[in-house]
Amino acid sequence: MANRERDFKIKFWGVRGSIPTPGKNFIRYGGNTPCIEVRCGETLIIIDAGSGIRELGDSLLQEFKGRNADIQILISHTHWDHIQGFPFFKMAYIPGTKINFYGGHSVSALEKLIFGQMEREYFPVSLNDLQSTIGFSALTESPFTINDVTIHFTHLIHPTLSLGFRIEYRGRVFVYATDSEISNDPEIEKINERNISYLIHDADMLVADCQYNREEYENKVGWGHSAIETTVEACNKFNVKNLFAFHHDPTRTDDQLDGLIEMARKFAGPGLKVYPAKEKQIVYL
Ligand SMILES: [Zn+2]
Ligand SMILES: [Zn+2]
Repeated sequence: MANRERDFKIKFWGVRGSIPTPGKNFIRYGGNTPCIEVRCGETLIIIDAGSGIRELGDSLLQEFKGRNADIQILISHTHWDHIQGFPFFKMAYIPGTKINFYGGHSVSALEKLIFGQMEREYFPVSLNDLQSTIGFSALTESPFTINDVTIHFTHLIHPTLSLGFRIEYRGRVFVYATDSEISNDPEIEKINERNISYLIHDADMLVADCQYNREEYENKVGWGHSAIETTVEACNKFNVKNLFAFHHDPTRTDDQLDGLIEMARKFAGPGLKVYPAKEKQIVYL
């Protein structure tokens, strides 16, 4: 997958679902909740602001010393594990930094959902201490563009609004589709499959919800997450080249995750590779 230009880079900062998981059984794959850094040339995009965004912020602080950063944050949805890191994102406290959030809610609703977690009852630091310039954009039409990057989005099945993002840059495709339930219900899947196909077809790299295996899923129907076998089948069907299993269950130890991936690889067609998403891992498209 490595491209010599290295102008399309993905870095995982948080890969865990639901809640951060410290502890010796989670060291290899990491315990932070969802956050991914995407670089397309000079354009800096962050997807989701789970607890992983804290360390990403520390790294950006070093990189942008003395320079103003322009940061785009795509929010898939506002379940806590996807926004809880933002109050600890140091770049938000730096004057001259520009941050723009994109999400599926109205501008006022998105602002309230992101900043609501910084009310005094939840968090000690005042909103006035956020010295950066923070804006919000409501996503209404797909695709949209950020500089020379084209981004498609669609709704996924989840107990609340959840968006998947397809990022296209200079002929390569990266897709983020987590907190997404591919169900066993043929009626629901008739509609869902259209969205999934629009989002993931021919992707070079797909980061997707693989929280359960099929047996576990049977007890979690309607919770908004998928079985890895089902996700692999969708990848086979829509010609995805590399699947990174994501939103690891908080109870899934490193060793168990190795076993899950090994099992899932048996379902992969000849054109598909399956990997476990791992904190701090970098992938060039
Ligand atoms: Zn989640
Ligand atoms: Zn969710």
